[in-house]
Formats: sequence, structure tokens, C-alpha cells
Amino acid sequence: MKLFKFNGGVHPEEHKQITSAKPIRVMPMPKRLYVPLQQHIGAPAEPAVKVGDTVLKGQLLANSQGAISAPVHAPTSGMIVDISDHPAPHPSGLPVRTIVLESDGEDKWVDLPSMDADPLRTDGAEIALRVGAAGIVGMGGATFPSAVKLRLGSRNKIHMLVLNGGECEPYLTCDDRLMQERADGIVDGARIILHTIKAEKALLVVEDNKPVAIAALQKACEHAGNLRVVVVPAQYPMGSEKHMIKAVTGLEVPAGGLGADIGVLVHNMGTAYAVHQAIRHHRPLISRVITVGGGAVKEPQNVEVPIGTLLSDVIAFCGGLSEPPARTLMGGPMMGQMMPSLNVPVVKGTSGVIALTAQEVSAQTVMPCIRCGSCVGACPCGLLPLQMAAHAKAGNLDKVVDFGLVDCVSCGCCSYVCPSHIPLVQYFNYAKGEIAARQQAKHKTQENRRLVEQRTQRLEREAQLKADAAAKRKAEADARKAAQAAKAVNAELSLD
Ligand code: SF4
Ligand code: SF4
Repeated sequence: MKLFKFNGGVHPEEHKQITSAKPIRVMPMPKRLYVPLQQHIGAPAEPAVKVGDTVLKGQLLANSQGAISAPVHAPTSGMIVDISDHPAPHPSGLPVRTIVLESDGEDKWVDLPSMDADPLRTDGAEIALRVGAAGIVGMGGATFPSAVKLRLGSRNKIHMLVLNGGECEPYLTCDDRLMQERADGIVDGARIILHTIKAEKALLVVEDNKPVAIAALQKACEHAGNLRVVVVPAQYPMGSEKHMIKAVTGLEVPAGGLGADIGVLVHNMGTAYAVHQAIRHHRPLISRVITVGGGAVKEPQNVEVPIGTLLSDVIAFCGGLSEPPARTLMGGPMMGQMMPSLNVPVVKGTSGVIALTAQEVSAQTVMPCIRCGSCVGACPCGLLPLQMAAHAKAGNLDKVVDFGLVDCVSCGCCSYVCPSHIPLVQYFNYAKGEIAARQQAKHKTQENRRLVEQRTQRLEREAQLKADAAAKRKAEADARKAAQAAKAVNAELSLD
């Protein structure tokens, strides 16, 4: 198969050897789990339980709200001991509503429905419904509700499914291990997704630095005619949806658009495995495989962790820390987010917990831009990072947008190559956050104005109805008085 190149990109040191060679270990159930209601893009879920309730493993804890949302389920059996704010796994550490579940130690499953009709003969809309009910979201980190993505097939003509096995971030190997150990489940999930979106073929795309995973997937695909494993060069950011599509099809996703706009739907390998679990075994998304690594972790490895487990419990399971980390990240060092503490939970979009030593972080002094153009050459999206950063620094956000901010995938290649160590991507993330906040504020103002107008119109309508009713009552009273007066006159006339 012909492969296509994308411009730019970098080859950071991988740091993957230690964890990619070790089997996934399943973490024992911690005593307490902290399950946030917002683990996905869209509206937060709404609790379906209250403090004091006992729940079984897999039981619904909170319902999805609205078109873009996802439910959450109990990762084990036990009692709900709190529903309140808890620090989010986000650099701000701001609290989010969280259900706290205390394990009863029994890990007893809720009654799951027995195996029913062949999913490959089941209507696609029904499959999407069940994927939505299982709370599955994009597990590559995007956390977009997967059922919404599956339904895109009914709006756009999708001709190709791409399963993204591009795990290009340094340190992370959770998808690599999943492909090595659970290839049959992934391929089954891919076949179910393919059937659901009615596409003609699926490409399982893996980088050439994962030979064991490639062999496992090829074996699992042996009898699945329209599924093929495609090997691409390991190059950061190959895992970016747009760049993977470009590499295997040569097609460009339009600015601000989705792969579905050009007939290609991309799902992560972990998402395909979760779909297999949900459709074949009726299991909701209550655990995931993550990489625990970085020089500060004593025993780096891949671990299957219940959703809601605190990072401190995960690190303790991996032997603890050899030294206080200079930086703890959720995700990899290129695009991951710095964690405010270890008192935050693993969520559905967590791919790794990376605790880096001071030596690994090697803080560099920021110097002025020397206009060398390295950032321009490294940008896989064809942008001008130095110009964008200059405008972002000056607070000129409209200009940053004019220079293509919407196309920036926040990959950090520009920062990585900058000889002046300018944290370019941080400027772009700041600009994106500011723009999103402004849009939200604008939306809120418009919404408030609409509500005020609605209220004014309602009050006016009610006042009009009242006035009409009063006028009617007055007219009726006048008519009654007139009738009584006429009656009295008639009575007087008859007496005369
Ligand atoms: S790589 Fe750094 S120094 Fe070079 S042009 Fe870009 S911002 Fe300036
Ligand atoms: S972070 Fe944005 S601007 Fe920088 S290289 Fe990546 S896509 Fe280009």
C-alpha cells in the first residue's frame, strides 16, 4: 500500500523499551474510587445514585445529559460515601463533581444480560445505542463520546475506518501492550464498528517501532477480509488523527473539519477494545490500561486500572517513587498535562501517568527568538509558530486565529525544536483557552439576553391576558348592571 508523507514532525527520544516489554498487570481494587461526572467532551453526567446507596460493579452511577455526553458506571461494588467536589485531573486542579465509592471488597458484578444476537447482524443504530449506554469515549485522549462518532455514518458517507495505533508520545506504551496482548478483542471491536458505520474497509495503522503488536494484529486479522494492518514510520505526531489520515490516504482533512468530512472515521485501538467488551460482554467502560513511567517511578509498567483510582494509589502499586518528581504528567511529555498533585483520579481519557525527574525535565533558560525558522520546518500543520506566538504574547488573539490557530494540534513540535527554548505551544494552548472562554462568555451573554427577552415577552403576554380578562369582566358587569337597570325600569313601568 502506498504511504504518504506529512511535512514536519520530530523524532523525540522514545523511552519506551522498559514498559513495552512487560505484560499488563491488573491493579487490585483500591479502597476508595473517585469517579468524576465529567470525563468526556460535552455535558457532565447527572447522578443516578445518592449518598448511602449500595451499588454493584458495572451499575449505572450517572446518566448522560444531552446529545453529547456519556454515562459513568461503578468500577466495583460498594457504597456511595460522597458526591461532592474533588480536584480534577487538570493542571488547574479545580474541583469537579465526583462520586466517591467505597469498595466492599467483594467486586460483585451487577447482572449483565446474556449473550444475544450476532452483533454483525444487529442494526447499526442499536449498536451505537449500546456503545453510548456503556459510557465509551475516545480513549486516545480526545474523550469524544464514541456513540456520537458512530452515528456520523448516518450523516456522512464513511468509506473507511482507520484504527489509530499511532502511539508516538515518548514513554507511553499502553496501546502497544494492548495490541500485543488483546489483538483478537481489538479486531473484533473493529469489525463491529465497521459493520455499524457501513464502511467498506478498515485499516489498522501501527508505527514500525511496534513489531510484536503488528504481528499480533496481523494474526488476528487473518480471516477478516476487509481489515488490513498498515505499518507507518514512527514519527511524532503520527498519532494525530489528521496526520494519520494524510499518511494512509494522502487526503487532507479540511481546516476546522473532521475526518468524517472526507469519508474517514478514526477510532483509537483502546476504543475498539472497549466496544468489543461492551457489545460482546455487555461490560461498561470501568477500567483502562495506562502506562506508569518516567524516571521517578520505581517500577515502570502498564497497568489495568479501575476508573477513579487516585494517581497516588497507582504509583504506590508501581513500587512508589524513587525521588520526588520534578513534573508529573497525565499523558506523555509532548502533549500531556501537568498534574497539580497525586490526589486526582485516573479517568477514561488517561493514557499514562509519567513522573519525570529533574534530570529528565532539564529546565532550560528561555532566550529571545533568533528567527531561525526551525519551528516552521517542524510544524506538521504548515503553520508559522513564531508569528503566532508573537501575536499571542501581545494578546492579539484575532491575529493568532488569522495565522491558523484552529489548525494547530498542540503537538509541541515547535517548542521541541526551538533553540531558544521558547514554550511556543504554551502560548497556543493559552490562546485556545482564552478564545474558548470568550466564546463561552459570548454564548452566556446571548443566552441571558434571550432569557430576558423571553421573560419580558411572557410578562407582556400575561399582562395582556390579565387586561383582556379584566376588560371582559368589566363588560360583563356593565351588561349585568344595564340588564338590572332595564329590569327595574320595566318593573316600575308595569307598576304604573
Ligand atoms: S524555533 Fe524558536 S528561535 Fe527559531 S524562529 Fe522559531 S521561535 Fe524563533
Ligand atoms: S504545536 Fe501547533 S504550531 Fe506548534 S508545531 Fe504543533 S501544530 Fe504547529
